Amino acid sequence: MTIKPILILSAVATAAFVVGCRTPAPSAAADTIYLGGDIITVNDAQPSVEAVAVRDGKILAVGTRSEIDRAYKGPNTTVVDLAGKTLAPGFLDPHSHYISSLTVANQVNVYAPPAGPGKDIPSIVTALKRFRDEHEIPKGALIQAYGYDENAMPNGVGLGRDDLDADFPDNPVMVGHVSMHGAVLNSAAMEKYGISAKTKTPPGGIILRKPGSNEPAGLLMEMAYLPIFASLPKPNAEQEVAWSRAGQLLYAAAGITTAHEGATHAPELALMQRAAAGGASVIDVIAYPFVTDFDVVLERNPPATWGKYVNRVKIGGAKITLDGSPQGKTAYFTTPYLTGGPGGEKNWHGEPGFPEDAVKAFFKKVYDLGLPLNVHANGDAAIDMLLRAHEYAAAGDLAKQRHVTVIHSQFVRPDQLDRYLAYSITPSFYTEHTYYFGDTHVLNRGREQASFISPMRAAIDKGLRPTNHTDFVVAPLDQMFVIWTAVNRISRGGVVIGPGQRVTPLEALQAITINAAYQYAEEGSKGSLEPGKLADLVILDRNPLAVDPMTIKDIQVVETIKEGRTIYKAN
Ligand SMILES: [Zn+2]
Repeated sequence: MTIKPILILSAVATAAFVVGCRTPAPSAAADTIYLGGDIITVNDAQPSVEAVAVRDGKILAVGTRSEIDRAYKGPNTTVVDLAGKTLAPGFLDPHSHYISSLTVANQVNVYAPPAGPGKDIPSIVTALKRFRDEHEIPKGALIQAYGYDENAMPNGVGLGRDDLDADFPDNPVMVGHVSMHGAVLNSAAMEKYGISAKTKTPPGGIILRKPGSNEPAGLLMEMAYLPIFASLPKPNAEQEVAWSRAGQLLYAAAGITTAHEGATHAPELALMQRAAAGGASVIDVIAYPFVTDFDVVLERNPPATWGKYVNRVKIGGAKITLDGSPQGKTAYFTTPYLTGGPGGEKNWHGEPGFPEDAVKAFFKKVYDLGLPLNVHANGDAAIDMLLRAHEYAAAGDLAKQRHVTVIHSQFVRPDQLDRYLAYSITPSFYTEHTYYFGDTHVLNRGREQASFISPMRAAIDKGLRPTNHTDFVVAPLDQMFVIWTAVNRISRGGVVIGPGQRVTPLEALQAITINAAYQYAEEGSKGSLEPGKLADLVILDRNPLAVDPMTIKDIQVVETIKEGRTIYKAN
């Protein structure tokens, strides 16, 4: 097992070799010294050290215990004994939907196990009833859940309105689909949002009907659901700060010190900026305004303000979506799905999210402004489209580092990985799909293609620096599960999905630390434990590089530290 030397050493990294041997002047002493456990630096030049000194929110020095003691321990220095636990850089989240975290704190988790209780319909109803009773939800008030996955339901029978009506005759209930693109509504919710047998299915939408009838069965997807989603209650000014803080603490509890908002609409960005100015920020959050709102956001936030943190919120770049999801059969492929389309279509390839001309024009606009770009692309045809748009927009200099990231990039072909490298494009993979949807992908796409899903091994071997994400709220905020899936690639059904694409625990950790820092052009300040970088740290109860790889998912986050300050501590 070899670890490829994928990190480029910074000047800071090489300076870290030498630690002075002097008694510190009070001005040179550390605020805090961490020692007494494993310390993972994620710095190839100095992979393991015994102690880390922190001052003014930054890493002052790393080295042996005696070196750090001698040079940086002053009378006012706090010494934190890790007591056998493991210290690592705080995690950078390469892609999730931060804005969802504001409401998730007020909703019912019905994810399928192990992330939640949603193993069957009765379990979902029980979780909803418990939430209603514990939160004393009054009659008439909307109850929302998130994470419903019909693929996990026994016998393929999904949740319907009738399952909810008996226990919730007086409360509208909306059980959000795990894709975030739909929900199951009970009868009270149908009435509230005006959905009935008379409602026509809008183009691009799905209204599931009861067998042999026009009566809606419960599930609404895509364009049938989006207008309802858009009309859901929004927080007031006071709630904005409180909910933002609560959302950020969900990230902090997962060891994340830099979060990602993956498709930001103009009102949401304004909310983030207001809440941050109101003192909500605990961690850093990077927003990617969505293509539909790009011009409006640009009007209010000129390009010179992008890429800079204000109250811990940074506009990272633009976002465009080129296709859908492979499990929903809306990802766009060059070859047909083996199981037909979502509506039983034959020779179904999926469809692009936008016409190619519009995509090319958007790439050009973003590149000409010198802004980074995140592109959602799952199927290989969507990735071909991305590469053509890049070639069009970057004609003068194809290889320039523009911080272009392919979000998911799940069904990338080997030849496309070569082009990523040539074009300085970074894949942000989604290896959790090997667990959640691995068995589904084998059925839909065949074993060979499914085995190359989120090919981290191939990408690293070619010299790329892939990142890896949860896509929260699609999957829970659980960075240990992200690492576990990259290292093991075991499906829900117990099958190894592409054993050749497994990576080492260190490589999996790099994908959510130093590689993510490169994705954000923040490698100078984040992603590894090196002098001069921010003291963004996480303490884990065990060392993911040392435990049995199958148990990585059981490792707990004990404490999270942002710029030297503890922001989360497990009970
Ligand atoms: Zn996403």
